[in-house]
Amino acid sequence: MAAEVKTTCPYCGVGCGVLATVDEAGAVSVKGDPEHPSNFGRLCSKGSALAETIDLDGRLLFPEIAGKQSGWDEALDLVAQRFSETIAEHGPDSVAFYVSGQLLTEDYYIANKLMKGFIGSANIDTNSRLCMSSSVAGHRRAFGADTVPGTYEDIELADLVVLTGSNLAWCHPVIYQRLAATKAARPSMRIVVIDPRRTMTCDIADLHLAIRPDGDVALFMGLLAHLATSPAIDQNYIAAHTEGFAEAFAAAAALDMNNLLERTGLPAMQIREFFRLFETTPKVVTCYSQGVNQSSSGTDKVNAILNCHLATGRIGRPGMGPFSLTGQPNAMGGREVGGLANMLAAHMAIENADDRDRVQRFWGSPVIAAKPGLKAVDMFRAVADGRIKALWIMATNPVVSMPDADSVEAAIAACPFVVVSDILKETDTTRHAHVLLPSLGWGEKNGTVTNSERRISRQRPFLDIPGEARADWWQLAEVGHRMGFAAAFDFDAPVEIFAEHAALSAFENNGSRDFDIGARAGVTGDAYDELSPFQWPQPEGTAPSVTRFFADGGFFHPDGKARFVAIKPPATDRTNADFPFTLNTGRIRDQWHTMTRTGKSARLSAHIAEPFAEIHPRDAIETGISSAGLVEIESPQGKAVVRALVTDRQARGGIFAPMHWNDQFAAKARIDAVVAPITDPVSGQPASKNVAVAVRPFRAT
Ligand code: SF4
Repeated sequence: MAAEVKTTCPYCGVGCGVLATVDEAGAVSVKGDPEHPSNFGRLCSKGSALAETIDLDGRLLFPEIAGKQSGWDEALDLVAQRFSETIAEHGPDSVAFYVSGQLLTEDYYIANKLMKGFIGSANIDTNSRLCMSSSVAGHRRAFGADTVPGTYEDIELADLVVLTGSNLAWCHPVIYQRLAATKAARPSMRIVVIDPRRTMTCDIADLHLAIRPDGDVALFMGLLAHLATSPAIDQNYIAAHTEGFAEAFAAAAALDMNNLLERTGLPAMQIREFFRLFETTPKVVTCYSQGVNQSSSGTDKVNAILNCHLATGRIGRPGMGPFSLTGQPNAMGGREVGGLANMLAAHMAIENADDRDRVQRFWGSPVIAAKPGLKAVDMFRAVADGRIKALWIMATNPVVSMPDADSVEAAIAACPFVVVSDILKETDTTRHAHVLLPSLGWGEKNGTVTNSERRISRQRPFLDIPGEARADWWQLAEVGHRMGFAAAFDFDAPVEIFAEHAALSAFENNGSRDFDIGARAGVTGDAYDELSPFQWPQPEGTAPSVTRFFADGGFFHPDGKARFVAIKPPATDRTNADFPFTLNTGRIRDQWHTMTRTGKSARLSAHIAEPFAEIHPRDAIETGISSAGLVEIESPQGKAVVRALVTDRQARGGIFAPMHWNDQFAAKARIDAVVAPITDPVSGQPASKNVAVAVRPFRAT
């Protein structure tokens, strides 16, 4: 009997434990790990189909230079030489890394160390910028650091679960399964879904608020004003543990009911019912995801939610708190090691001179990035205008997934030197690489990931390494060697990187932050191999435990208090006579990102086989669009052609289209070619859910 290997699903931020088995004939089977505390044996459709997506068809097996197979030495020498030459001639900010929430924490750590500590630039950003950076920014404003207070258990312990901007049923399916099972066992639990669409998640909702796009800032401001005059307000908590309530309340109270009705598009009765439920239910968890984050007011939305939890003291206690659900398998791990342009490492802040000094001394590095680097959208603008002349893209496909994707493709195509590390030979992005480096895929990789509830789990290998593929951390470390930094990148195995990250986390008490993984600083190979899933914080000398932040009312601002944020409601309507519809992009149940893996499974493709756009029946009639006919979606940025799905799940005036399809599956299928590169001013996250577009029947010319 072949041995089972405990590993972690490589798709969404739920971070489910997987048991993988390879039989004597080499066939792989997977099932949920009953002992993993995130999923207790459950898997969703994507996780269950993992074995169908790991064949070698299309794999990149050898390094390539200018489309021709090369050896590793030749390829790595060239990468190091071109990056070094570019830096020498144009300075450290003329190069950039664009990385991914698909990377393991160990990969992310090395990429961040090389860019910030040795190249001396902070031009490393990630596709997680598109995913949860507004939550990071909101957490930092309110809490003083980027921390998710709660655990999945809180969702089950709550009496009221508010899901805003979160189609849990399709995007975090195992949390949805846990929630649905809890609701079935305890029908008194109330669930409110706030979403312009009637998504599948609404099937278990007691109340669905079909809010206008970006109307949720106003809704939560209205909730704060309501709570402030209700018995739910916790004046003692506000006085002891927070600052800024008066200003936040004054801003919220300036919105009257008429204003609220107009901005949210909701009936007054529904708004009052939501406020009543929130007011009268102490155990409330508010989950939010991309519908909140992917907005030009994303950070304000996050803080509008956090304001309500702070005002009631409902945070950090069992069954209570705001809960940001991360999209990717290791979005959280990237945050831990500072794999974003505006973060440092081990939760330290790039703007903080003491933090910079601490990290530089720990690394023994010749330089340290002194200012934040370019965030994703700005990074590709800098590629386009020639400020960035050498770009290394790892484990992501920006030609499909970035907003204004056609411009991003043109920028990459014109960049003087592009390196792409990927598992696939041909993606929309790899075709523009001067150097292609073959990376390890799921089942071959070895390292750790962190899920939405701060739980660190192992991804363990169980497959033979194909061709000459190598780990991403190894590729980066080898380039670090060749750029003259051998001592700092002398790693033989991922455990050594994990141990260094843990040691940095504990170094000088991490500037008095108590949310590190310092207890793991001395981890050895065996202990790393056997590492059970655990949640941080786990400071030195402590044992793993279920942890919630802020239960004691202590926050990470210097005075130990949380901050309310006074918010101004944003303009929400971007439409005009030429572009009268609002496009909302998102995920579907059975595909992942740009389909480079899930697209291989016939079973998964059977769920929805083609790119589509949901449109309300009356809008379809008025625009002459017929059910299942082809439609053209157009914005000033570009066009996409997809199949019409006429449904009253979609509100009037809006359309929903999935983000997944790329031009290898269907011509003009990339919806991000249509999405405008508008970003949140604080987080830099693109507003992918409120895009003004025109929609019409497609006519081939
Ligand atoms: Fe994987 Fe997410 Fe599905 Fe769990 S819920 S099996 S992590 S895709």
